[in-house]
Amino acid sequence: MEQVKTVELISVGTELLLGNIVNTNAAWLAEQCAALGLSCFYQTVVGDNEERLSAVLKTALERSDVVILSGGLGPTADDLTKETTAKVMGRRLLMDEPSRRHIQEYFQKKSMEIPENNWKQALIPENALAIENENGTAPGILLEEEKHIVILLPGPPNELLPMFTQRIAPYLASKTGGTICSRTIKICGIGESRVETIIKDIMQTQTNPTIAPYAKNGEVHLRLTAQAESKEQAEVMIQPMLEELQQRFGENIYTVQEEITLEQAVYHLLLEKEWSVCTAESCTGGMLAGRLINVPGVSQVFKSGYVTYSNQAKEEILGVEKELLETYGAVSSQTAEAMARGAAKTAGTQVAVAVTGIAGPDGGTEEKPVGLVYISCYCQGKVRTEKFQFKGSRAKVREASVASALILLRQCIR
Ligand code: ATP
Repeated sequence: MEQVKTVELISVGTELLLGNIVNTNAAWLAEQCAALGLSCFYQTVVGDNEERLSAVLKTALERSDVVILSGGLGPTADDLTKETTAKVMGRRLLMDEPSRRHIQEYFQKKSMEIPENNWKQALIPENALAIENENGTAPGILLEEEKHIVILLPGPPNELLPMFTQRIAPYLASKTGGTICSRTIKICGIGESRVETIIKDIMQTQTNPTIAPYAKNGEVHLRLTAQAESKEQAEVMIQPMLEELQQRFGENIYTVQEEITLEQAVYHLLLEKEWSVCTAESCTGGMLAGRLINVPGVSQVFKSGYVTYSNQAKEEILGVEKELLETYGAVSSQTAEAMARGAAKTAGTQVAVAVTGIAGPDGGTEEKPVGLVYISCYCQGKVRTEKFQFKGSRAKVREASVASALILLRQCIR
């Protein structure tokens, strides 16, 4: 398809028709498409019904260049957007190997068994492109024909938004004869709702550039996207918004570079200060050390990672006193602090981070519930210890603990 001018949105879901959920996807997609220079003349909401969806899609294909369908890509039998689209467009559904692997890895990461019907999400129409879903299992689908482009997106906004901004918008921009340019601001140390409050005024008036927040395990990323005739022009358009946001979020921004991760930012800070670090972990069992060791070249600053799960290990390896453990318990600010001090001493580093908590699902009490985690950071003789109460599964509590430990580490060494 050479150049596209019009777009049509089809939101699929009986919940939307009944008014159980508000169609925020369509509002958001319409704005994004307008910023890309596409005219949207029609939007439809249709239930999870093959016959009616089929009719709506056929009509859309008669009058619009691009058709974007959202929702109904789930694993259950009433999720039929993909099957209906394939039928209308005369394509077979074939197993897509990368999507199959993605589903497998997604469930493995969550230590969950893969439900049999989830495999259907890896079926992709013939000659279509599967688009990886960072936050879920259903891949997006891009289908290009001589006269149309048909795009299928998952319904949950936290899956649809990043997929659209990162993959679909650049593709559509190339089809409208323009180009888009994006910058990402990565924020840590403040929650998503606080970030949204701080940018509320910008969010309400955004057109071009647009701004989209994504929450990511302890971090919030703001993606700014501008559309223009040239890349240079788009970059110039983004600059004032980027500067404004840098002012508003200040030290909470750890990078404005897409490829930099939180652990890399921490690594650069340690390198700058010429400090070395070690970790002492109980409930995270080495995951914090693992995140730091993601960074190539980290051996310049990372010395040792201790997994001290039992009280005995905390005593023997980190020198935490038995009386302290008995008086305050393994999950306490006192133990976290003693672990951090002990680790720094044992490893001979200027900096040490310690994590101790109750990851669950068992082991919680009224006084010390599941999700209670203490994180302590020792830095050049000073110690800062923080208490957290995380929610969710064992895996979630452990991931959140690692993210918070990296954030506290960054704050202490800045
Ligand atoms: P899943 O893979 O989670 O099954 P899906 O692609 O099948 O996703 P749906 O089952 O249609 O999507 O919707 C899943 C959830 O996503 C809904 O319960 C709702 O919370 C949200 N959602 C779906 N469509 C919209 C929409 N148009 N606007 C806002 N939220 C939506």
